[in-house]
Amino acid sequence: MKVLVINCGSSSLKYQLMNPESGEVFAVGLCDRIGIHGSKLEYEVPATDFEITLENDMPTHKEALEMVIGALVNEEYGVIKSVEEVDAIGHRVVHGGEAFADSVLLTDEVIKAVEENNELAPLHNPANLMGVETCMKLMPGKPNVGVFDTAFHQTMPAKAFMYPVPYADYKELKVRKYGFHGTSHKFVSNAAQEIMGNPENSKVIVCHLGNGASVSAVKDGKCVDTSMGLTPLQGLMMGTRCGDIDPAAVLYIKNKRELTDKEMDARMNKQSGILGIFEKSSDCRDLEMAAADGDERAELAIDMMTYRIRSYIAQYAAAMGGVDMICFTGGIGENSSLVRSKALEGLEYMGVELDTEVNSVRKKGSVKLSKDSSKVAVYKIQTNEELVIARDTYSIVKGN
Ligand code: ADP
Repeated sequence: MKVLVINCGSSSLKYQLMNPESGEVFAVGLCDRIGIHGSKLEYEVPATDFEITLENDMPTHKEALEMVIGALVNEEYGVIKSVEEVDAIGHRVVHGGEAFADSVLLTDEVIKAVEENNELAPLHNPANLMGVETCMKLMPGKPNVGVFDTAFHQTMPAKAFMYPVPYADYKELKVRKYGFHGTSHKFVSNAAQEIMGNPENSKVIVCHLGNGASVSAVKDGKCVDTSMGLTPLQGLMMGTRCGDIDPAAVLYIKNKRELTDKEMDARMNKQSGILGIFEKSSDCRDLEMAAADGDERAELAIDMMTYRIRSYIAQYAAAMGGVDMICFTGGIGENSSLVRSKALEGLEYMGVELDTEVNSVRKKGSVKLSKDSSKVAVYKIQTNEELVIARDTYSIVKGN
């Protein structure tokens, strides 16, 4: 079985051809700057360490996917003889709204239902669906499966997902918490349960910390709360997103600075978070280096970011009546020993004992970071969203 995993953005197309059962990746890469001058395809074959970058005009996603297919079947460095060897295509779709609590085979009818959520994710969903349409055109007859960022969080109870605004805004406008990064939270919480020996009852907190960041509370394998909301802006302080702030501050800043809606949106999504406080970069590595050199704003940004992670951990432990395991994942969660240790500072009262020595050594894969005596286990777990997409695609196609 070979599944092509596609993650389509407005000007990019990430892909992986993989075996969903073994997780083996045959080829991986991305098309960048689609529709912009200087578009290029990056293509890599992990088994042989082969890498190539091909610069070519890609006015639309159609040309991009044609380039991907061309590379996959290339006589010299391709990994399949013909596109017939691709059994199914799995697509990342950002917003499934309330209609999709699970991955789904994409038919014309289902696509229409997905389109109804486009307003909730105007930057992402239309691009994701463009990827689906392009695949259907260029690989007719192949099954396409949609895997939603929001689906894993659909098990949240109403008390967690409702906002205390007029009920009509929920009924008529679908305003509620949806949550994102669901495939990552699903992968990591499943891995945590496996590590614990798949007990019937478990309480896991997953901290997905990348440019975008979110925390989720997973009880007995089901998500009961998560920090992102109607959009990915809510929750933690992120690379360029502000996360939780007083909603009245939004109106105040907008009015005082005489900003349009679009400008205010950009201020919160692209100019805030680490970048907003540190001002020099949104990247956690730059931030840590500057803090090590004594940059006070960098220190403040790290303190703010980790204080907020810690607050969510404590909140979710309270929500679940305890916690068995805290998992860190994503670029920052997997790599930054500083962020992990500062986020867990002061949680000893909850039974969290970090092994600072193990935490400071960088190792690949899943690593236990807590002391044996720790009541709460702490792990770093390498996330694999593409594998979740490939596996869901496989099980749906097999089921059909
Ligand atoms: P995205 O949300 O775009 O997928 P990633 O999960 O790739 O983001 O995470 C990117 C973040 O991870 C960046 O802020 C980057 O600085 C950070 N990061 C990567 N490696 C390290 C490291 N060794 N130490 C600290 N931060 C790191």
